[in-house]
Amino acid sequence: MRIKQSLLEYVDNVKNGTYTCEDFVLETLEHIEKHEEVLHSYISINQKAIEDAKKIDKKIQSGEKVGAFYGAPIGIKDNICIKNSKTTCASRMLEDFVAPYDATVITRLKGQDALFIGKNNLDEFAMGLTTEFSAYGPSRNPWNPDYVPGGSSGGSAVAVSAFECLASLGSDTGGSTRNPASFCSVVGIKPSYGLISRYGLISYANSIEQIGPITRTVKDTAFVLNTIAGIDENDNTTIDNHNDDYLGEIDQGIEGKKIGIIKQMMGEGASKDVVDATNEAISKLEKQGAQIQDINLEAVDYSVAAYYTITATEAGSNLARYDNLRYGYDFPVEGYEFNSYISRARKRFGPEVTRRMILGGFVPSAGYAGKYFLKAMKVKNKLTREVNEAFKKVDLLISPTVPVQPFKIGEKIEDPIALFLVDFNTVTANLTGKPAISVPFKVTNGLPIGIQLMAEHNKDKFLLQAAYTLEQNTKLPEVPL
Ligand code: GLN
Repeated sequence: MRIKQSLLEYVDNVKNGTYTCEDFVLETLEHIEKHEEVLHSYISINQKAIEDAKKIDKKIQSGEKVGAFYGAPIGIKDNICIKNSKTTCASRMLEDFVAPYDATVITRLKGQDALFIGKNNLDEFAMGLTTEFSAYGPSRNPWNPDYVPGGSSGGSAVAVSAFECLASLGSDTGGSTRNPASFCSVVGIKPSYGLISRYGLISYANSIEQIGPITRTVKDTAFVLNTIAGIDENDNTTIDNHNDDYLGEIDQGIEGKKIGIIKQMMGEGASKDVVDATNEAISKLEKQGAQIQDINLEAVDYSVAAYYTITATEAGSNLARYDNLRYGYDFPVEGYEFNSYISRARKRFGPEVTRRMILGGFVPSAGYAGKYFLKAMKVKNKLTREVNEAFKKVDLLISPTVPVQPFKIGEKIEDPIALFLVDFNTVTANLTGKPAISVPFKVTNGLPIGIQLMAEHNKDKFLLQAAYTLEQNTKLPEVPL
């Protein structure tokens, strides 16, 4: 099947006239139709996809200049705004919200003739890591539909893994591109903080989150970054990457590079299969000429607690706008005084968002801030210092992406603390602003295991070179669809 190709293979084939964009999009839509009932990776499908594809083909046939994507169908997490399209954040609160403008990443992808095939499912407002907290029902893991696909960008990872698009965009606040990438055996990156504009990404915890591509290959990730990364006047936290070419020199190798194993992430919380796979990945990198050592990051033990305290605080403030006066849904005000109206309107938030809102009101409040929020900020600073120190000794840090393999749908949903701990390995990159990537490495007992690599801030290009080296030394089975 054509749709099983990588994004770069697609571009070559359409460029050379092996097939048309329309043929490819039709095949993709048929495939989506066949699998969506089980997988549910999309909240909505672009009804004009075929029309869009025809426009691209016309451009190609008439010899007009065509953008780098050549109409490649891309999935977009439904918390990223596409003008005149619904952007629901998988919440009933934004069920009817139509975005009035394009996110910067969307403008840039449009400029390169990417085709948006649909909006991907997620945990409501990106809070979660299984996609079970979507108000529109969970996504399922294509490797085994009884298991969670990870989250919160679960739909984006499922769609890529199940050939329902060539690449997708997710967002990563505490692991949300890397976790589902690991669970679905695809590549997911959380770039350096500031590398990709957040303009048009609906904020959850904006001081630490980034948009990131999810793809089937490391080269495809580099290709997408070439279009979407770099400074943006609409987001003044963005950094100038001087139009870095992430694809160029990707096959540089890692000869002579130093890699640190994060000790805390190979300990008791991690399953034996996951630790074994990580050790295997480490020896493969060693064979490629890397030098390995252990790294001790003590603050990692407190990182999940700090992460949830900080993100709840930011969420409490970011989501305050959903009061049904500024954003919300049609609900009459008669019979309510101001506060009770807002409380009533917020009943549209699901259980996880409600939990975070309550927590987010409490932890930074007068009398408690010192005990919770400020303490969390201290952990964040200590962790950053430790990671900066580590990068004086090594070029890369390695760990499992997630301490465990995918678990069954429903297995942990009643136990928020157990769920939070699944983020143990991913939140450090967010709290410290460093880039991190999950590379698919192994399938054990029919379920995937991903390896996480982390690099110094702004060394995304080097991170991709290392990820590519690992990928080239890995052989994976095809997803059993
Ligand atoms: N699981 C984490 C949370 O619920 C991460 C989510 C994310 O990265 N968006 O906050």
